[in-house]
This record gives sequence, C-alpha cells and structure tokens, in this order.
Amino acid sequence: MSDLLANLNPEQLQAVTLPPQHALVLAGAGSGKTRVLTTRIAWLVQTGQVDPQGVLAVTFTNKAAKELLARLSAMLPLSFNRSARGMWIGTFHGLCNRLLRAHHRDAGLPQLFQILDSGDQLAAIKRLLKALNVDDEKFPPRELQHFINGQKEAGLRPHAVEAWDDYTRRRVELYIEYESQCQRESVVDFAELLLRTYELLERNEPIRKHYQQRFRHILVDEFQDTNRLQYRWLKLLADTGRDGAAKLFCVGDDDQSIYRFRGADVGNMRDFEREFHVANVIRLEQNYRSHGNILDAANAIIRHNAGRLGKNLWTERGAGEPIRVFEACGDLDEARWIVDEIQSLVRDGMSRSGIALLYRSNAQSRVLEHQLFSSGISYRVYGGLRFFERQEIKHALAYLRLIANPDDDTAFSRVVNFPTRGIGARSIEALQDAARTWNSSLYAAVPHVAGKPGTVLAQFVRLVEDLRRDTAKLPLPELVDHVLDVSGLRNHFRNEKEGQERLENLDELINAAANFVAEAGVQADAQDMAHALLADFLAHASLEAGEHQADAGSDAVQLMTVHSSKGLEFDAVFLSGLEEGLFPHENSIMETEGLEEERRLMYVAVTRARQRLYLSFAQSRMLHGQTRYNLRSRFLEEIPEELTKWLSPPNPRTSAVRSGFGGYYQPSRGGVVAKAPEQPVSRSRDLGGLRVGQLVTHAKFGQGVIVAAEGSGSDARLQINFGAAGVKWLMLAVAKLDPA
Ligand code: ATP
Ligand code: MG
Repeated sequence: MSDLLANLNPEQLQAVTLPPQHALVLAGAGSGKTRVLTTRIAWLVQTGQVDPQGVLAVTFTNKAAKELLARLSAMLPLSFNRSARGMWIGTFHGLCNRLLRAHHRDAGLPQLFQILDSGDQLAAIKRLLKALNVDDEKFPPRELQHFINGQKEAGLRPHAVEAWDDYTRRRVELYIEYESQCQRESVVDFAELLLRTYELLERNEPIRKHYQQRFRHILVDEFQDTNRLQYRWLKLLADTGRDGAAKLFCVGDDDQSIYRFRGADVGNMRDFEREFHVANVIRLEQNYRSHGNILDAANAIIRHNAGRLGKNLWTERGAGEPIRVFEACGDLDEARWIVDEIQSLVRDGMSRSGIALLYRSNAQSRVLEHQLFSSGISYRVYGGLRFFERQEIKHALAYLRLIANPDDDTAFSRVVNFPTRGIGARSIEALQDAARTWNSSLYAAVPHVAGKPGTVLAQFVRLVEDLRRDTAKLPLPELVDHVLDVSGLRNHFRNEKEGQERLENLDELINAAANFVAEAGVQADAQDMAHALLADFLAHASLEAGEHQADAGSDAVQLMTVHSSKGLEFDAVFLSGLEEGLFPHENSIMETEGLEEERRLMYVAVTRARQRLYLSFAQSRMLHGQTRYNLRSRFLEEIPEELTKWLSPPNPRTSAVRSGFGGYYQPSRGGVVAKAPEQPVSRSRDLGGLRVGQLVTHAKFGQGVIVAAEGSGSDARLQINFGAAGVKWLMLAVAKLDPA
C-alpha cells in the first residue's frame, strides 16, 4: 500500500485518504486530479473499506474508463483483477445503458431496445415531421432536436414544459409525437438514456434502494462538465439526506468547462458544495505535466476570463523549450511545416504516439491527414469521420438493428432500398400511410400494403426474417459476417468504383464484433444468446462511436479536436488554425460567455502538452469549400512574448494586437477598434479597393471591420464585424461600403 501512496504530494495524499465523506477536488490542469481519483479507488479497495462492487466511477469517455481500469489493474494485486469487473466504471451514458438493460421492464422498454446517436435522432425527427406534414422550414429539424434534448436534459417531459406561445406549444406537441414514435420503435436517444434512468431511480423505490445500498463510493471525473440532470442523477444515488449513504467524490476544474453548449453547468460545483455540505474543498496547485513555459502560457491565457473560481498552477520542472509559433501563408504550408517538425521530433527519439495534432473543428483534419499520409507517417484520428458513423458501417448496423428489433423504423428506412431492390419513394409512402393507419412500425405495416409495392416490400421482410432465423445461434462475429453477405452489402461495395476502403471497413466491423466479445468476457458461442449479445454490441457501437480507432496500440500520431483531447496528455502538441473566426470560433466571438468558453477550450489545448507546444495559423485557408482570410487568433496575443519563439517574422498584416492593430470586436470593452494594416492581405484579389482588416462604414449597420473575404471582382463577398450589429457576410457589389 505504501507503494500506492508514495509519490503523492501532501494535498493529493489528503484527498486520496480522506475518511468517507463527500469531497470536491478543485484543481487546474495536470495537477493530478484523475490520478487522485484512481488512486483513491485503489486505496479504498486495498484497505478493505469497500468491495469492488461498491464502487461507481464516472468518466468522460469510454477510453478514459478503460484507462482507469488499466491503471487500477497495475496498482492492485492480481486477485483484484478478477473482481474488478464488479466495479461500475463508465460514462454517464454507458452506465445508464447498463441500468436500463438490467431493469428494462421497470423502465418500460423491451430488452433489446436500440440507441439512437445524434445523426439517427435527426433522421428520426425528419421522418416524423414528414409523416405529420409539418413544414420543416417553420420547424427546422435540427432546432427541434435541440429543443427536445434541452427539455430532456432539464428533466422535463412534455407535460412539464411551460409553453407560453403558440410556437412553443406546437414544439411541445411535436415532442409528444416524437416520444411516441421512439416508444413505438423501441429506440432511445442519448438524452433519453439519462432521463429514463433518472425517472426509474426516482420512481422505483426498491431499485433505488438497491443501488443506494450497493454503491458506497461514487467518484466523478471532469465534474465541471456534468449537466443538471446528471447532477440530479448523482444526487439520487448518493441521497444527501440519509446517513450511511454513498459518498460522492468529485474532481474537476472550472477553467476546463467546455460543454456549456450541451447543457453542462459549472454551477453544479457550487451546488454540490452547498447541498452535500462539503467540508473542505481540496485544491491541488502543483502541475506535474507541463514545462514552465507551457504552464505560464496557459495561466496567462485563462487569466483573461472573468468569474473564475481562481487558482494558480506552478511546476518544479524547468522552463523547457520556448513555445514555437509559426505563421504560414496557407493551410497547406501549415500542414507541411507541422509534418516537418514531427519528422524532426521523431528523429530525435520522440514516439509518434506521444505527438498530438489538435484542431478546433473536424473539418481542419483533412489537410493534415493528407500531408501525414503523403509523408508516410502513421496517424490515427479520434472522432471526425468516426468509424461507427461511416455510411457503410451505418448500413451494416441498420441490418443488425433490424435483426435485434424489426420495429426500428430508422434502421428500416435506411436499408429497405439499400442495396437497391426497386423499392421506390411511392412504395415507401404507401407503407408510411399504412403504418399510420394501423399505428404500427413500418415493418409491421408491410402486409397492409397492396399491389406490387406490397410484393416487393414483402420480399424485404422475408430477407430480414431469414436473417433473424439464420443468425439466432451464430457467434457474434460470424453473425455480422453472414449479414454482410446475405444483405448484399458486400456485393454492392465490391462493384463500386471506390469501394475497396468501404469493404475493408466492413471487415473491420467483424473485428470490432470479435473484440467486443473478447472484452465483454462472454462466450462467443453462447447458444441462443446471439441476439441479446447483438443488442449489447449495437449499444456499444452507439456509445463508443469513434473512440475505438485510436486505441489500436501502434505507434501513430494522434489527431483530434480540442474537445476530445480533454483529460489526455502528450509529449508534443501541435495546435493549428489559430485564427479569428476559427479559434475562437466565429459563432462565439460576439458574446462574452461564448468567448470565455473558447478561451477555456484554448486552455485545455495548451495544457495537454508535456514538453513541446507548437502553435500555428495561416493567412489563408480553404474551409468548407471557401478560401478564408483570417486574422490571427487573439489567444496568441494573450501569451507573453518571452515564452514564445516565432519561426516566421511577426506579420503586421495578420497581427491583431502586436502591431497595434486591434481589428476585432472586444465585447468587454465595446466597439470596434481598428487601424488599417500596412498592406492588403492579398494583392491578387480584387475587392474593389478594400482589404481584409480595413475599417468600413455601412449605411445600416454602421462601422465595421472586414474580417474575411471570398471570391473576387463582382463575386466578392466580405465578412464584416459590425460590433453590436453582429458579424455579417455581404456581397461587395451590393453592399455599398465606404472606407471609414
Ligand atoms: P486534467 O485536468 O488535464 O484532466 P489532471 O488534473 O487529471 O489533469 P492527471 O492526468 O491526473 O492530471 O495528472 C497529470 C500528470 O501528472 C500525469 O502524468 C500524472 O501521472 C502525473 N502526476 C500527478 N501527480 C503526480 C505526482 N505526485 N508525482 C508525479 N507525477 C504525478
Ligand atoms: Mg484528468
């Protein structure tokens, strides 16, 4: 045990060995929060204070859950590893899925219910609007999705939503319709997973009591990003009012709260302190991850945010290398520079897997991937084009879902005519009408469709029935293999011109099934269990989306968005695209809160680096099919100059502050401050004598600064930041702009 506690600093030791009580560790990046949480679990188990079954640990990603388990196995003796399965470690969604499967009847669900990821959910909503003849311009599907999820995350069923106006009332009606569609199809979206579990625990006293007694210690990592419903869920399990209830141990960092847009609420930290009477909040201030320059930069950046809970980090490590900053002409040059630097790091002995490329938006990864690929550097992408979200995989999963649950209309609609079997839009419409008349799923409505459409649809049903029958006893990987053949998917992609990669992905799905069976520790050939196991696998596919790509053990450079880098660390970090509009993201710039969230995101990015940090931006960039000319990010200016080394001379043309040109709107100070830069950004572009960075006046919107431009001559469009009037794209030919 002494081994376990050796190397902890006094505050960490205090946190790890706290007597059973509710506790909050509030500390900055790299200060050992996750390490404290893991060590505490090991210590509690090893000192016999709790059985593994009594532990519930919530992590932010499935990957983090696996890492936690791996770290625990390393810390604890072998005998522990056998009992480790008794622990519940996972994400909120993963844990809810587990609870709902175990108590599906009490939760009002069939055992083999399916999970809708957010793409599936959107498709389901579109289908609903169509069936109800709702004008989707008046009720945009995405917005309705956001509305429904928002209500669920606030714990509100339709009857509890306060609707004061007709528009909201109509949305609530659609929420009701959506709920009954989901129930009819036996599908559950992400927000529903949480709400259903919450309601189950709240209403069903025996079940609630069972888990309240079972879990003695509940530990939550990344607590700052929990939403209200998740917090209430924790409260139910830990039951504030009862003696002998489970103890809640939360670790988090308000400066790393980056999911406000998904309903995360830092206020949970304050509520937790108050409602659970947390006696002392433990703070950790020593950072063990990063060299001094990197840490100083992070501290300097986050200091620009107001309303922080406040903390400072220090390190015993030396200053280390300066932060390298590179200004590229274009995104391609930027990618080339990054790859050159990676090659030199690798030559110097750094492992590829210790190197991460981070970006604000997924779309940025393509250029980087291309460059890495051409240079023969192996790499892996987290998220982005997630494995389980690829088209061909979704098709395959849809067949599998129909086997587990034929009433899944989303799956049905996806593959009823894929590969094509001559089932046209009219047949589908007839089927939808029948389903509405009989209030049934599409699948069940097929016998009610007459004529030729009925015949063709019946053939499809027969195909699914055959698949169900023939796979009922197959081991999972063989089941998948069988479905790929019989559905005609393999054949379809074999005949497709660029189908090779898709075929490989389909084979990879068989591997994923085999891995799943191995990891789940079930008998692959467990008879008659095939379809139950299949449902588990499908749940895993929905929940795990994408994370699986990155943990193949090979030595590869890691690519991911800043969001998904949370909690991770790397020897070297490249953060590219540090441009106004990109990072901070253009949707956030106009609003203090949005901007502060972007800054926290920047703080997360910077604090991922152990030894080396590389920051870069490009004067022009192709994104979403347009060339954009952006100013460099204000976040660069927030890093003290002495910590950085510029690998290209600071460029007055793209500089926001360094050259005294404050060409962006600063909500905290109000107004647009701009001084024309020395030279136009692009001479070749004809912008009617105007240039990016220039201050202009518009008859209606007033004064603004040109932030970006696209096209040229009569096609030119300008993005202009009008301060209080917002950021707007205007056609140059029409806009009547005057230089200010
Ligand atoms: P984040 O906020 O980014 O999630 P964190 O606070 O969870 O960071 P950890 O990931 O737990 O920090 O720790 C950061 C690094 O510091 C890890 O490599 C960890 O092993 C190391 N570390 C933590 N505490 C100590 C210690 N007392 N001695 C040596 N190394 C430590
Ligand atoms: Mg952590």
